Amino acid sequence: MATRFENGIVVTLGEKNRVLWNATVVTDGERVAAIGDSVEMKRRFPGADSVDCSGKIILPGFICTHHHFYSTMARGMGIPGDPASNFVEILERLWWKVDRALDEEDITLSAQLPLIDCIRNGTTTVIDHHASPSMREGSLDLIENAVRQAGLRASLCYEVSDRNIAGGGVAENERFIKKIGQGSASGAVPGDGQIAAMMGMHASFTLSDATIEQCVGIARDAGVGCHIHVAEDAADRLDSLAKYKLPVVNRLQKLGVAGEKSIFVHCVHIDDSEMDILAATRTSVVHNPESNMNNAVGVTPLLKLLKKGVLVGLGTDGMGSDMLVQMRCAYLLHRLANQDPRVAFLEAPQLLLQNNAAIAKRQFGLQLGEIAEGLPADLAILDYQPPTPLSEANFLGHLIFGLVDATVDTTVCKGKILMQGKQILSMDEERIAARSREIAPHMWQRLQAL
Ligand SMILES: [Zn+2]
Repeated sequence: MATRFENGIVVTLGEKNRVLWNATVVTDGERVAAIGDSVEMKRRFPGADSVDCSGKIILPGFICTHHHFYSTMARGMGIPGDPASNFVEILERLWWKVDRALDEEDITLSAQLPLIDCIRNGTTTVIDHHASPSMREGSLDLIENAVRQAGLRASLCYEVSDRNIAGGGVAENERFIKKIGQGSASGAVPGDGQIAAMMGMHASFTLSDATIEQCVGIARDAGVGCHIHVAEDAADRLDSLAKYKLPVVNRLQKLGVAGEKSIFVHCVHIDDSEMDILAATRTSVVHNPESNMNNAVGVTPLLKLLKKGVLVGLGTDGMGSDMLVQMRCAYLLHRLANQDPRVAFLEAPQLLLQNNAAIAKRQFGLQLGEIAEGLPADLAILDYQPPTPLSEANFLGHLIFGLVDATVDTTVCKGKILMQGKQILSMDEERIAARSREIAPHMWQRLQAL
């Protein structure tokens, strides 16, 4: 069934970004059938459904390359005792209790709510990292069901760590990777283009060599990458230096974790030689500026990584699902950190618009993040009346200073309208949030006993 999203400003992105006024995107099934002048598109596709996009801007759906859906129920929760004074204490007092307290229904609701948030923010593709040590087996299926119900795309993995039990989570990853691989259309990338899988791992300081080797073996055999936190805090680097006499990236590379399908999240505390390894192995890095600021762990050497040719994407690390806000946070952070108002204007949008698409391509085998004939029909349609002329030449100025505050009106993924007129169509937001409010206090109570 074809649909004309018409009379809007279309921004195609991709290698040759085009900004088209009074333009229409025609979708047919899961793909874009045509883009062009609204009058012409109406003439060519007279029988298609139509969605009026006047006063709106049509962009490719946004991509988040690192998220933690499971963090949802921590919102507003009180933590007893003194505030955590460093990153490891934050993990011990908060996150390693939150994940242990999650039961089956919590996992489903914890995924459904951020997925709704993704739809609200035009984020159509997510790479998630999940943990629920009290309910590991089958947890990724619960999240997969929520993603399919929402209508979005996601790459899923379970966070393997030795902290509760040696190799905890390996079996869940292995099971899920095999399951996704079986539905694979092509051998190159396991998955059906909607759900992909990775080997999830927590971080160097919670993983023994033996566990890492086990994970790498499974990932290699299945042709998937590893998704791991790297040197988020100085504690991870110090641990690796003390125990293995190697910085984190060197250790992980030696064990076979690096590679072009792998994602090294954060990379805040890495040195030049580690950056060279990331570039040489074509390993992706994902930067999460809001999370780094929230945990007060430091500043990723973003500009240096980019200069060395490392593919750096942008994630939220569970802080939210609004990628434009995250992009502007990166823009502001690196201007301040470098004390240089000439930087980050190009780089911050590059992470979101180009690099996240390149990372997603390695996971899903699809060219996302671009509106073009034949490509997947994933769209974010925002209310936006440009107060000044808008063209290819000044699009980034509008992105950073205008679109970041614009409201998403309509979200489309795989050609399906998931939100229209700010109404979520694929899920019952009110019911899901009400149920979550009902059961969250029980989860908090279980957590206090841990
Ligand atoms: Zn994370």
